[in-house]
Order: sequence, then structure tokens, then C-alpha cells
Amino acid sequence: MEEIKQYWNEFLNIISEDEEFAAVALLKSSLFIVDDENNASIVCSGDFAATHIKKDFLGRIKDFFREKSENTINIDVKVDADLVNEHLEIEEIEEYEDDVKNDSKDNSNEINAVKKDVPANKTNLNSYYRFDNFIQGNNNRYVFAAAKYVSSNPGKEYNPLYIYGSVGIGKTHLLQAIGNTYLDSNPNAKVLYIDGSGFRDEYVLGLQRKRPDIFKKKYKDLDMLLLDDLQLLESAQETSKELFEIFQALDSAAKQMVFVSDKPPKELRNIEARLKNRFEKSLILSIEPPQYETRLAIIERKLFDLHTSIDEDIMKYMAENITTDVRKIEGAIRAYLSVRDLMKITPDIEQCEKMDIFKDYFTGKPKLKNASVKEIKKMVADYYGIEMSSFESKERTKFISKARHVAIYLACKYSKKSVTEIGLEFNRDHASIIHGRDKVEDELKSGSHLFSEINEIVSNIS
Ligand code: ADP
Ligand code: MG
Repeated sequence: MEEIKQYWNEFLNIISEDEEFAAVALLKSSLFIVDDENNASIVCSGDFAATHIKKDFLGRIKDFFREKSENTINIDVKVDADLVNEHLEIEEIEEYEDDVKNDSKDNSNEINAVKKDVPANKTNLNSYYRFDNFIQGNNNRYVFAAAKYVSSNPGKEYNPLYIYGSVGIGKTHLLQAIGNTYLDSNPNAKVLYIDGSGFRDEYVLGLQRKRPDIFKKKYKDLDMLLLDDLQLLESAQETSKELFEIFQALDSAAKQMVFVSDKPPKELRNIEARLKNRFEKSLILSIEPPQYETRLAIIERKLFDLHTSIDEDIMKYMAENITTDVRKIEGAIRAYLSVRDLMKITPDIEQCEKMDIFKDYFTGKPKLKNASVKEIKKMVADYYGIEMSSFESKERTKFISKARHVAIYLACKYSKKSVTEIGLEFNRDHASIIHGRDKVEDELKSGSHLFSEINEIVSNIS
């Protein structure tokens, strides 16, 4: 029966490596109880956890156990809040008592050695998130610099630091990189990464167990607090009051705090007013979705991390079409690689489209894909600031010719019309259309500046 428990721990370790922190936290906050050698149960503190675990994990857990053990082990998911609380309470009180004991001793090397061995997950940090694998672009240069500064000068000028922006653009990555980098030079520091809902749950649990002191001590003792997705505390007034207290304690002890949210402080609703007020006075930085070149560099970096590479055309195609969310870019890379590796083919763009490999990942409206020639002409005319009628005219100034060629190229690429049909809309025969299209293609191949102009037109629309 000990083995069964061991399998569970192994499963938790594996899953911690590739699942989101919040999902793993659900599993870790549940109890695993072995009834006998054929039966075990996962006991959760509420329906939310139970439903998620059943939906997202139970299949994988069962497969894992089937691989590990010759016996059939039935695994049940149950809800029993009291049982879970009782168990966690014992664990935390033990931890608390250990902490108090350690605090009362002097800071001898022996203790430092012990503290170093505290498992990394106590910080909740994922060691993948580092500054050196974060691609800088115009969208994030300033935030990147501030985050880096704070990681080596914590508790100084930029305390707290407040970062906000939309989903999937690297906020959590930067936040955790601050913690990881700080820990590199201060391995014994108490750093904690947590998101708004985790923080709220801990606070509520502390109250339920009538031990809010454990919660308060844990947070007020930190050297660095990294609080992600602060918007999840909206409407949790009581919790945000508590956060304000912690804020004051850490602030007066000059301990660094970094807050991340999907909105600026002034837009946060139903949060302790004094806290909001302090946020508004902090250094507030926004991070924007990456531009085309940055997206391309991110794709290259992710492939490098995966020790593989893919065709440049495919990389560009992804960067063109996934414009707002880097997590989706990662999903698209994984989807492409799994088709490539499973089917032992190297799909080109056409095959990718046929197989719909990227259908779940492309962001924005795929307007270009079904755009009419007229729409394309309008986009290009707007971009270069010329009249649409110039495309049909005989005017041959360099600037107009270039714009006309770009419009022809995009029309050939995206409109699904034949060159003859496109010709009609440009008042030209099909040979001129082919000439225009090929001219742009050649220039693109030779790395001309047209490349970034076209990408800008394309990313303006998608
Ligand atoms: P957010 O917290 O803003 O929703 P994340 O930090 O979780 O987004 O980023 C989503 C994914 O995209 C992560 O795996 C992260 O490593 C990656 N990512 C985002 N921006 C960059 C970047 N500039 N360079 C490298 N990876 C990035
Ligand atoms: Mg995040």
C-alpha cells in the first residue's frame, strides 16, 4: 500500500512539470487515501476541485496507475471538506512550529544548509521562467528592464512594481523570472509566488481553521511577494483588507512586492480602497502583445528550447496569424510538432491548412484569408496613404508602383481569385499581375524592407 501512495507522489511530480500551477495546486490540496491494495480515493475540499480533477486528470491518473501496478487499482474522487481541512491543518501547524523553532536559533550554517533543501515548490516558482529565455521586443522592453532591476535591487525604488496586460503575453513569465533571479543570489530568501485565488483560498482556509495567525505570519515574513492575477481578488473585500495589512508590513520592512493584473489599478473593482490607492502610487507598467518580429523570435526561442527546428515558412505563417497570445503560439508549435512526429511528414502551409492543424490557435479574425480583392486594395491604399484608384491608373511613380505590386501580391496570396480575375480589378492583364506578384516574391526572398511593410499590413488586419 505504501507503493500506491508512492505512485501518487510520482504522478504529482510529473504533472507539476507540465501543467499550470493552478491545476496542480488543485491536486496537491486534495488528499490521497489508500483504502486497500485495490482501492484508493482522492478527497477534495469542494465540488470545484472534484469536478476539475475528474474532468482533467482522472483519466491520466488511472493510466499512470495501470502502467505502474499489476493490480487493478480503483480510484474514486470524493468531497469531504472537513477531512481535508483537518489533514492540512496538522501539516501547516507542524510547518509553523518548525519555522518558529528555526527562527529562534541563530543563523548558523547548519540551518542554512537545511533551508536550502526545502523543496523548490514552497516558492511555487517554475524554474523555466527566466529572463534569459524571455524575448524582448518593443512591447515589453521597459517592463523587462524594470523586472530585471527589481530582481537585483529588491525593496528599493520600485516597490511595489505593478504590471498589467492582456492574457498570454508573458506577465507570469516575467513575474516568476524576478523570483528565480533573486533566489539565484539569495538562495535562502523567502520568496512566494501565488495568484489571487490561491491567496484568497489560503486566507479563507486560515479563518475556517481558526488559525489566521499562521497565514499572517507566513506572508509578513516573506522577503519577496509575487502576486499574480490580482484581479481575482476583485470582490473579495475581506481578503484584500488582509492583503493591505501584509502590504504595509512588507513595505515598512522594505521587502519587494510585485503585482500582476489584467488591468491597471484604477480599474480594479471592489478592492480595499487603501490598497488600491497604494497601487496607484506604485510604478505601473503595461505590457503589450508582441509585434511580428518579436513573435517570430519567440517561436525560434521555443523551438530552440525544444531542441528542434521547423521550416521558416511555417514559423512566419504562425507569427503572421497568431497575433495576440503567446500561449497560443506555443500551442500551435506543439500541434505542428506532434503532427510531424506522429505522422512522420513535414507538412507545408497548404497541408497545415488542409489538416486544420492551427485552427484552435489562430487569433484575431482571419480576415485576410477570405478577403476580397477590393478589401485588400483598401488595406494597402490606407497603409501607403494613396487613393484606391491609383491601383487601376497608369501612374508609374516608384511609390505607386510599389504599392500596386504589394496589393497584387497580397491579392494573389489571399483572395482566392485567379490572376485573370485579379487583373480585371487592377485594370491589367494577367501577365502584369504575375509580373507584379513575382517581383514582390523576389524582393521578399532577398530580404528587402518590403518584408516588414507587408507584415505590418498583414498584422494590422489580423
Ligand atoms: P500571461 O501571464 O501574460 O497570461 P504567460 O507569462 O503565462 O502569460 O505567458 C504565456 C506563455 O508564453 C509562457 O509559456 C511564456 O513563457 C511565453 N511567453 C510570453 N511572452 C514571451 C516572451 N516575450 N518570450 C518568451 N516566452 C514568452
Ligand atoms: Mg499569467
